[in-house]
Amino acid sequence: MQLELKNVSYTYLPSTPYSAAALHNVNIKISSGEFVGIIGETGSGKSTLVQIMAGLLSPGSGVVLFDGQNIGSRSYNRRIIRKKIGFVFQFPDYQLFEITVERDISFALKKAGLNKAEIKMRAENALSAVGFDYEKVKNKSPLSFSGGEKRRLAMAGVLAADPDIFIFDEPIAGLDYSGRKLFLKLISDLKRNGKTIIVVSHNTDFLAEYADRLVIMKNGVILKDGKTAELLADNYFFEKNNIYAGQLSEILNLLKDNGADISGNAVKYNQLIDEICRIHGRKKE
Ligand code: ADP
Ligand code: MG
Repeated sequence: MQLELKNVSYTYLPSTPYSAAALHNVNIKISSGEFVGIIGETGSGKSTLVQIMAGLLSPGSGVVLFDGQNIGSRSYNRRIIRKKIGFVFQFPDYQLFEITVERDISFALKKAGLNKAEIKMRAENALSAVGFDYEKVKNKSPLSFSGGEKRRLAMAGVLAADPDIFIFDEPIAGLDYSGRKLFLKLISDLKRNGKTIIVVSHNTDFLAEYADRLVIMKNGVILKDGKTAELLADNYFFEKNNIYAGQLSEILNLLKDNGADISGNAVKYNQLIDEICRIHGRKKE
């Protein structure tokens, strides 16, 4: 599987000048099994980019290729991407629209022609993966849940559909501690199962921990795209572009500024602990 954007530009309001477009000439290729994190300041085009990847928005110019096929061409069977790409919106209210949780989760599965028993099993498993008991929530209205719970419900809907590619737009914003833990477990399981994961997040520390590849957006362009560890080690780049490199990087820099002999390659918490233990001549517990 491969998802590719070629020279993609996008403008929400057709009359706006080129400089005001949400995306300018974006090129990116994502392959099966990759975990890609997308960061950048608010308004830099992250949500637009991932919605174009999922086929939810059509590019103003340029093309989106899924396994080499142009998903915007008239002859393309859009069922393919609807089945293979799952999208969890930044705002869960965009996603939940049925009158009960059960109906919401089964909607896409019914359309895909699955039988009742299979739908029930998938709904049960998906709800349990995000911390809900199927029997307890199935008849409730999605609207009766809190913001963080709605986000988990939206995730369950996508999980139940079992796509190859999962796209999450700001998944941890609004989740409490246990919601976050569940999400991290879920995302680790998806990664282990070889799913392709694309996550937009303000939380660079979370991406440093999980994403193999990082895409940095600014003013509608991809400023940088590369291995997470290599990108995060480049402090100068983050400073120059006024982008927050995360708390871990902040701690690392403070330690270095204060004379600690810390390797610039520590971009995960366990690597930082390793470095601190090394400096103190101790073994990590
Ligand atoms: P991000 O997700 O990085 O915050 P977006 O992709 O949402 O960025 O937005 C990119 C640009 O497009 C911003 O300038 C934003 O104001 C504009 N934009 C986003 N959504 C809409 C919309 N529905 N209508 C008009 N402009 C929009
Ligand atoms: Mg956004």
